[in-house]
Amino acid sequence: MKQTIVKLKRVFALTMGALLMACAPVNPSPKDGVKVGDSSSLKSMVPASSLEQAAARQYADIKKKAGAKNALMPDTHPQVIRLRTIAKKILPHAEIWNPESKKWQWEINLIASDEVNAFCMPGGKIAFYTGILEKLKLNDDEVATIMGHEVAHALREHARERIAKAQLTNIGANVVSQALGLGSLGNQALGQGLQLLGLSFSRSDEKDADLVGMDLAARAGYDPRAGISLWQKMGQLNKEKPPEWLSTHPSGESRIYEIQRNLADVMPLYAKAKGTTIDRLPEYRY
Ligand SMILES: [Zn+2]
Repeated sequence: MKQTIVKLKRVFALTMGALLMACAPVNPSPKDGVKVGDSSSLKSMVPASSLEQAAARQYADIKKKAGAKNALMPDTHPQVIRLRTIAKKILPHAEIWNPESKKWQWEINLIASDEVNAFCMPGGKIAFYTGILEKLKLNDDEVATIMGHEVAHALREHARERIAKAQLTNIGANVVSQALGLGSLGNQALGQGLQLLGLSFSRSDEKDADLVGMDLAARAGYDPRAGISLWQKMGQLNKEKPPEWLSTHPSGESRIYEIQRNLADVMPLYAKAKGTTIDRLPEYRY
């Protein structure tokens, strides 16, 4: 009996500890740029290192499979060079949104596939499919918008938060397993072979990634108004056949509306990156 009480007390202390940890502020957002608020603190219940290691393993696997099919585009491919050039301008601004990201081993690859898709896994593992570049005939500003969006999912740790929320539904069991030394939260899901690429984000995560992505692109000197033309192109393609990227990313007029509504916050960043003022910026050519 006494032992049970001691155990229960321990479980209670661990639960409180986990909840307190979850209340600590994580990655406050910068003072200038888009106003999205601090990222959710719930995710601190899942160790970032386990998630990043799992992502690195899964990314290596994707590359290996693409390589076996001759679908991993070589470093000398013009579109690979283009993607890495754009990334080189965007990634120095990642730290503003997530200081931990300066330790990440960023990777940018291009995979030959008809799929209209792109992603950035936790820890900075980016991939574009040739389908998204070719079918949408993306200009550099639009590529930067997509890259910014995907990088934002990683920087704001939306995957980590999704897993934390899923794990919270059986927090009791996890806390007990922690007390027994069976591993920490999140490790369990990852250990069970959770596929990070198949993870879908919530509508609010998508809005967050749109806005933070636009902010990153603007700081890097890419026109944030490209978000509008990008979504128009996506919508056009969607009429024919819904692209993969759209099936996981809610679209619509509301998205363009949100981009327009928040442009005033990022246009000064874009003008600054271009060494000019907002009134001297040229019109965006849609
Ligand atoms: Zn997204």
